[in-house]
Amino acid sequence: MRTLIKGGTIVNADSMVRADVLVDGERITTIGLQIDVPVDRTIDATGKWVIPGAIDIHTHMELPFGGTFAKDTFETGTRAAAFGGTTTIIDFAVQPRGGTLRQGLDTWHEKADGKACIDYGFHCIVSDMRDDLLPEMDRLVDEGVTTFKLFTAYPGVFLSDDGAIFKAMKQSAHNGGLIMMHAENGPVIDVVAADLVARGTTDPIGHGLARYSIFEGEATNRVIRLAQAAGAPVYIVHLSAREALNAVRAARDEGLPAFAETCPQYLFLSLDDLGHGFEGAKFVCSPPLRPADHQDELWKGLVHDDLQVVSTDHCPFDFHGQKELGRGDFRKIPNGLPGVEDRVDLIHDGGVAGGRITPSRFVEIVSTAPARLFGLTRKGVVGAGFDADLVVYDPARRHTISASTHHMDVDYSCYEGREVQGGSDVVLSRGKVIVEGGQWLGKAGDGRFIKRERSSFLR
Ligand SMILES: [Zn+2]
Repeated sequence: MRTLIKGGTIVNADSMVRADVLVDGERITTIGLQIDVPVDRTIDATGKWVIPGAIDIHTHMELPFGGTFAKDTFETGTRAAAFGGTTTIIDFAVQPRGGTLRQGLDTWHEKADGKACIDYGFHCIVSDMRDDLLPEMDRLVDEGVTTFKLFTAYPGVFLSDDGAIFKAMKQSAHNGGLIMMHAENGPVIDVVAADLVARGTTDPIGHGLARYSIFEGEATNRVIRLAQAAGAPVYIVHLSAREALNAVRAARDEGLPAFAETCPQYLFLSLDDLGHGFEGAKFVCSPPLRPADHQDELWKGLVHDDLQVVSTDHCPFDFHGQKELGRGDFRKIPNGLPGVEDRVDLIHDGGVAGGRITPSRFVEIVSTAPARLFGLTRKGVVGAGFDADLVVYDPARRHTISASTHHMDVDYSCYEGREVQGGSDVVLSRGKVIVEGGQWLGKAGDGRFIKRERSSFLR
């Protein structure tokens, strides 16, 4: 099967040029000024961009949390991702407490196998960092699961103490893996949260009030310094606060291999959304939404490459029946927001259309940098030899985000009624058109597990 994408402007992280793209089978074979060869299918991209399929390295399909499960399955979640121009996700396989990392991976392979519509990889969530896991980490790095997420939050569930985090970092320094950190000071947050509840603040706003941005800044600096001492790189997930960004900036200015992502919710939503009584439960995630003045700071972080990636932390719970578990006590609201479908268009809208970043930087943030940092060596570039994960992107098209039209399996949208500029017209996954003109043409089970290489930190 040969497909020719004609007349578009190829946008890569390092270039923007008018050229044709020839796809043969699953790969891109040729980029040319004017390709005229017999093909099975020609896609007209005149006036549009051709970008590498976006990569969301932070999703939680079917994550168990607080007595329920994140609603999207690998089938519904990856299909929704594809509609939004995302052609690869990396999801988090959770180690059962007392069990091994491999047990978590086995469970997640079962969830994804035969169901995923786009390619996927896994990180491990380390719930219970024990010494016997250290050699297991070495083996997993060799097998293509190269990244491990630890937490300074959620005592009794996911929290690792500093000694355990340090051991994991030291291990990654010698096996080439990468430690990802959820950096908030969980034990202190729990003290403040209990205090708020005791004084009668039980609505969702309490979630935002209890989790001070100082606690994120402190934990971010702490884990960066632990990584420095261990001689290891570190990646901060879902960075939300100015204090945390400043810790990353300081480290990077010193030349340390400290990396961080933020998420659309921290760029577009704010603490105010957590108000409005229990409706605010729709916006409960951790770290929480911050006062609106943090947003500009995060955009600056993206402009200056102190933040390298935007991913979603996609973890959807229905408002009805799931978020409602926390009525009367914000601590019981399942943490997480839907977003896997909206990321690319939001970042295009706020970033490129908003005049903050170039089209190339947009591509770098949503695709190329995630590919390099997370060892997806055949993805993230429109170039000969790379996987034909491609999006014909219309940077001018406007559409309105709504739960009534989105494809995520969740009963609300955080961006209900927001008009955005930019949309994916045609989406190819390894050479096969899976979305075209708003129609689903893909198939559950066509997504493959990707064994990842070790991270490349060079830009
Ligand atoms: Zn997460």
